[in-house]
Amino acid sequence: MSKTYSGKCLCGAVSYVAKGPPVIVAQCHCLECRRLSGTGHTVGAMFPAKDVALSGTLGEFTYTSRKGSTVTKAFCTACGSPIYGRNTQTPDHMTLTLGTMDDTSGLNIEVVIFKRDKPHWDQQVEGVMCFDTQPDWTPET
Ligand SMILES: [Zn+2]
Ligand SMILES: [Zn+2]
Repeated sequence: MSKTYSGKCLCGAVSYVAKGPPVIVAQCHCLECRRLSGTGHTVGAMFPAKDVALSGTLGEFTYTSRKGSTVTKAFCTACGSPIYGRNTQTPDHMTLTLGTMDDTSGLNIEVVIFKRDKPHWDQQVEGVMCFDTQPDWTPET
């Protein structure tokens, strides 16, 4: 069943529409996600990149992951809201930040990754699969 998910940044300059359902919804506690979000984790929904339409001016920041892939984080240049992340390990997909999405009904966190980096003051998600780091998972498997 396909459904579209729209979203926008804090100031509204950047918006997107994604054709769902997402491949997976994941919460990540890695150090980069903590810095990026300013909190204890990010929550992202992964979609095939071809199913996501973006509009507005995005800035990009890239870094090398601990596995050696290149990670690109895109944000609104006006208000700084994080919009999506891409990883060269999964080049055909992109992960939209769940907090920027307008209607997330029916979506739930399915997996927690980099649990070992969770700060003690962040909440534990119960009842989902948890991994200490990044599992060897790709959207194709
Ligand atoms: Zn903005
Ligand atoms: Zn992360």
